[in-house]
Amino acid sequence: MGPVHQGQLYVGGRWVPTRQTLTVRHKYTGEAIGVVGQADAGLVARAVEAAARAAPVMAALPAHRRAAILARIAAILQERKETFARTIAAEAGKALKYARVEVERGITTFTIAAEEARRIHGETVPLDAVPAGEGYFGFFVRRPVGVVAAITPFNFPLNLVAHKVAPALAAGNAVVLKPASYTPLTAVMLCEAMEEAGLPEGAIELVVGPGATVGDLLVTDPRVGMVTFTGSSAVGRAITQKAGIKKVTLELGNTSPVVVASDADLDLAARRSAVGAFYNSGQVCLSVQRIYVQRAVYEPFLERLAEATRAMAVGDPLQEGVDVGPMIDVAEARRIETWVREATEAGARVVAGGRREGPVVWPTLLTDVRPELRVVAQEAFGPVASVIPFDQLDEGLAMANATEYGLQAGIFTRDLGAVLRAIRALDFGGIVVNDAPTFRADHMPYGGNRQSGLGREGVRFAIEEMTNVQMVSIRCP
Ligand code: NAD
Repeated sequence: MGPVHQGQLYVGGRWVPTRQTLTVRHKYTGEAIGVVGQADAGLVARAVEAAARAAPVMAALPAHRRAAILARIAAILQERKETFARTIAAEAGKALKYARVEVERGITTFTIAAEEARRIHGETVPLDAVPAGEGYFGFFVRRPVGVVAAITPFNFPLNLVAHKVAPALAAGNAVVLKPASYTPLTAVMLCEAMEEAGLPEGAIELVVGPGATVGDLLVTDPRVGMVTFTGSSAVGRAITQKAGIKKVTLELGNTSPVVVASDADLDLAARRSAVGAFYNSGQVCLSVQRIYVQRAVYEPFLERLAEATRAMAVGDPLQEGVDVGPMIDVAEARRIETWVREATEAGARVVAGGRREGPVVWPTLLTDVRPELRVVAQEAFGPVASVIPFDQLDEGLAMANATEYGLQAGIFTRDLGAVLRAIRALDFGGIVVNDAPTFRADHMPYGGNRQSGLGREGVRFAIEEMTNVQMVSIRCP
């Protein structure tokens, strides 16, 4: 299990040992499961330099060869999918069944990127639409930005890395990857697969280390043409202030709302909301956090949701049958415990869960919450969700929309009119109807409005972000 290259990073097309290393732990048992290299400033500079050298090589690589390499990466992941799943379960604390889903999705993301690599193109522009353009022929093409710095969070150590690396390579860029320090083993294994797939030397660089130093060096380096970041809103904000003039895309947090209308299929709404709130211990950017329920169905819905929540098996993520593993560390579990205590001291009622042991927090459902409580107003990024009644649909939609975030929102209803009202009322990058807002297919446009981010992912849309439009205007003789 785990990567071959222990204690090393991938820089300039070879595995290099580093002066400092980082021990990665199993998030449930705490045992050491691997060692990765840690980059210092010198190694980060070497990685960026190597990527800058590789960028023109990648840009010149024909589309069919980029596509073939991406397809080979997908094939290698397919061969090793159980090893990847077990590594993700151990280092991220994600229940094995969901880690397996993540690996399948990672394979899909690379496969879609292989397809999209073949269809990156521009358009003709009818320049004679304005008098100044008479006698000119125009078209634009898409050119890779050069070096893409990819900075990723701990909660999807494979697929969120894939969502940056795969489109960047498909578009003909070189990539410097900095994964989260909690979950670097999956990234090391992915780089091993990319090396085997025959990626040109320097096209993928792997540096591991603290965001404040290693991440910051990448964000501020003028040789980096684009920063693609997934993580917290606080770090996203800092990146926009430091990046200077380079492309930046940000996939940030959310306090995902679900609206359950009185005509909804309550069994479906309860089942999907429970999974959406608690899988990966709620450490999902789209995790269901605020559930607004029309008063006529509030009690029967709450009963079903509480039942689905209590039925979740909590424990070691590597045990088959476990639904919910630990949080990423004890400090995060204590933070959730504190937020829940603060809520109950302010009059909230715990309907399910409310218990913590070490890094494990039992799926926790609250009612009687006030909107200004942290469990409602701030991104919980933990296994806690609140159920809140409303009377008229428009009131429920307004409460769902009353947030600074705007990634995805969900509504359960059978009424087309209600769906159309929700689309207008909810300022979110994605609206999900009759499922939890955790729904994501890897080729759809995906990203946040407001404080949830800048730009879109979903392979084709990420490729658009990772290329520059180059306009060609030809004066006809
Ligand atoms: P985080 O912001 O703490 O870290 C994310 C990455 O940024 C890590 O690799 C970290 O080392 C790096 N980093 C930290 N400080 C940095 C700095 N100053 N400069 C550059 N890089 C820096 O986030 P996390 O705890 O790993 O992940 C949880 C957060 O990610 C949540 O807020 C969640 O909503 C968000 N997230 C969003 C999406 C999405 O698609 N919108 C997906 C997953 C997670």
